[in-house]
Amino acid sequence: MKISVIGAGQMGNGIAHVFAQGGHQVVLVDIAQASLDKGMATIAKNMDRQVAKDSLTEADKQAALARITTSTDTASGVKQAELVVEAATENTDLKLKIFRDIDANAPAGCILATNTSSISITRIAAATKRPAQVIGMHFMNPVPVMKLVEVIRGYDTSDAVTQAVMDLSRAIGKVPVEVNDYAGFVANRILMPMINEAIETLFQGVGGVEEIDTVMKLGMAHPMGPLQLADFIGLDTCLAILRVLHEGFGQPKYAPCPLLVQMVTAGKLGVKSGEGFYSYTPGSKDLKVAPAFAR
Ligand code: NAD
Repeated sequence: MKISVIGAGQMGNGIAHVFAQGGHQVVLVDIAQASLDKGMATIAKNMDRQVAKDSLTEADKQAALARITTSTDTASGVKQAELVVEAATENTDLKLKIFRDIDANAPAGCILATNTSSISITRIAAATKRPAQVIGMHFMNPVPVMKLVEVIRGYDTSDAVTQAVMDLSRAIGKVPVEVNDYAGFVANRILMPMINEAIETLFQGVGGVEEIDTVMKLGMAHPMGPLQLADFIGLDTCLAILRVLHEGFGQPKYAPCPLLVQMVTAGKLGVKSGEGFYSYTPGSKDLKVAPAFAR
């Protein structure tokens, strides 16, 4: 299948990786050449890791990489596509613009999927002339490792399109789960209030960063504490999702913690910016609490 992936950030490069490994032709599109270069380097590095673990042969790695081409132009990048998966920055206006663009340039039969964490699929679909062919395909981070794909049906999404996306997800080794289109869907409706509460708990001084994460790891058998997970997802993405939940349900319980807002304003976005609740040094696996939270 010919698949275009829009956005080469942490999710987009992972999505391109799993489709290429699954035998599909992929065009990876980003407005920034630097993101494309970084995305391709990340895919190669992650595939090297699979080769080292014997879950991929060197020849299959080379073949998968050769199936990926890159482009900085969305219009030409989707011209041949049978499926587009959009994984650009989590911003409603930006996604509406991208979908208008894709709709105007992709072939008539092409399915338009979005990896949005929280924005209404129905709203995105309404920006196109093919709402029956618009669907949510919500991969989890890191994409090559995590099995789940939350498949979200918008108001008009057809049965045939839903079935095609469920089948395709299974064919690349994922486990798809079909859900309906309400703010946050299932995954983030449950996850983000927990992360927000962990930040609120830190903000109120009830516990430090390590204490909060340790309680959740050892007490609830979570593989990663909520503050480390927030850093990993990206604090800007967490904030954007909480705002969608807050606006979508109009309930104060979804209001983002002021500390989260402040950190995003200061450019502390977690792993991708080098600092969030923890500090990250490239090449080091040590987890160090960020200076602002050191006790
Ligand atoms: P990111 O910031 O790592 O990457 C976003 C990329 O989009 C950047 O490379 C940017 O240059 C590119 N971009 C911006 N505008 C563009 C445009 N007009 N055309 C093409 N590319 C454009 O973000 P991310 O974490 O990869 O998130 C991408 C999407 O995936 C968001 O919708 C997010 O909510 C969703 N998502 C994120 C996670 C996560 O854990 N980070 C998990 C599931 C879903």
